Amino acid sequence: MTPVSPDPGLCARCVSGRRIDSARGSTFWRCAEHDRDPSWPKYPRLPVLRCARFVAGEVPAGPGPE
Ligand code: SF4
Repeated sequence: MTPVSPDPGLCARCVSGRRIDSARGSTFWRCAEHDRDPSWPKYPRLPVLRCARFVAGEVPAGPGPE
């Protein structure tokens, strides 16, 4: 298994976590909660160690670089 860098913390196993691998080899994590609530951060500060909206589940494949 490839190490995930940076460590996303809870986002890696949250239904709202979206891993985005850029063409330059960088990895970002986007939070889909932002789509439902624009006041919620789109790119949470990593690692997320505590989150009131964390819901454990499968992380869908990301849409790719934006
Ligand atoms: S809801 Fe919280 S834990 Fe889940 S992806 Fe967003 S910031 Fe990460």
